[in-house]
Amino acid sequence: AHLDRIAAVDGVVHAFLHVNTEEALAVAAEVDAARAAGQSLHRLAGVPIAIKDLIVTVGQPTTAGSRILEGWMSPYDATVIEKIRAAKLPILGKTNLDEFAMGSSTEHSAFGDTHNPWDLDRIPGGSGGGSAAAVAAFEAPLALGTDTGGSIRQPAAVTGTVGVKPTYGGVSRYGAIAMASSLDQIGPCARTVEDAALLHELIGGHDPKDSTSLVDPVAAFAAAAADGDVTGLRIGVVTDLQGEGYQAGVLDRFGEALDLLREAGAEIVEVSCPHFRYALGAYYLIMPSEVSSNLAKFDGVRYGLRTLPTEGPLTIERVMAATRAAGFGAEAKRRIILGTYALSAGYYDAYYGSAQKVRTLVQRDFDAAFERVDILISPTAPTTAFRLGEKTDDPLAMYLNDVATIPANLAGVPGLSLPSGLATEDGLPAGIQLLAPAREDERLYRAGAALE
Ligand code: GLN
Repeated sequence: AHLDRIAAVDGVVHAFLHVNTEEALAVAAEVDAARAAGQSLHRLAGVPIAIKDLIVTVGQPTTAGSRILEGWMSPYDATVIEKIRAAKLPILGKTNLDEFAMGSSTEHSAFGDTHNPWDLDRIPGGSGGGSAAAVAAFEAPLALGTDTGGSIRQPAAVTGTVGVKPTYGGVSRYGAIAMASSLDQIGPCARTVEDAALLHELIGGHDPKDSTSLVDPVAAFAAAAADGDVTGLRIGVVTDLQGEGYQAGVLDRFGEALDLLREAGAEIVEVSCPHFRYALGAYYLIMPSEVSSNLAKFDGVRYGLRTLPTEGPLTIERVMAATRAAGFGAEAKRRIILGTYALSAGYYDAYYGSAQKVRTLVQRDFDAAFERVDILISPTAPTTAFRLGEKTDDPLAMYLNDVATIPANLAGVPGLSLPSGLATEDGLPAGIQLLAPAREDERLYRAGAALE
């Protein structure tokens, strides 16, 4: 049914870069046979899933949304993919994204735009717009994303779906092509909080192949989501993440969510995190610095594309330059140049060093806030989905969309976005973000379920 749905609507939505028909049907048939034979199966066995094309898969191409990886096949599976295969979830295919997960609209993909199923002239968010659109368009009930600065949560908000960025280290990053390693995290996209919890339980847990992986056992996220009891929970409204720049309809739905939580027995207080206003600036220095280092490996020798210079001597440097000039898009090049500059000798203290200090201050804001409250709450994104093309010529306007999602990545804390309803002025979905202390992802599922 999901493959039929993809065939029917993906021509206009364009959530998928690759559809894995044969293998998905084979896994579904295996599950049917196992069930008929009375074998015990994982709770999610047979539930189809779509995978953001930043996560490597054997037998299907992985492009990261970039020409530089066109035609490349991974020789190994990501740890999350191994877990998905072991539990027998049919993999429907690979979903579109901004090149190397850099963007907030999926317009920086080398393989065309993804359209928001609510309004095809609008962006589906980014970078994981393909995964969110696939879930919103009923092409897939579950999907995987990656979140470095909001790429799971912001697409969820603008497509009316649920997206979770787990605690940093809570899900193995092995096999997620690195964007900014100290910020990257794989997480679930779904249509309900409980579905996201079930998928999180499956993919989470320690992995010796990821040196930043936490050793904690996976908590009972699905049970917390099924319970949804918020009696006595202290919830802090982040006063710094509302007001100027936030759309009226988004704030209206946010206010209603606070009323719902109050009625459900939670205590709502206001909390200020004064350094959050510097988080965006710090992120857009730390992230490109890590990007410039991580993307250095695409050299025309080891992976994918190799472009030869059209004239002059055939040296390795010139092949590298020709390959990177042809293989990377404008946004990837912009960030590589910014990051290289920020890390240059002589500029390190002024840019990268200062940004790291701001990162510490943001972490301290979270620490102070979580001494007073159990959970923080804010809108996920300042606006509903904007129009395709509206911000492509203005990188700063695009970056501003991440203002509410970035603090969580800088601090490594978990965040969940869920729909709060439709904004009155444009009838488009708005999202609410819940944030918890590191390792307390379970609280997000409990409070999220209370809002559904
Ligand atoms: N909008 C963010 C950026 O462009 C999203 C990054 C991400 O989470 N992958 O950097």
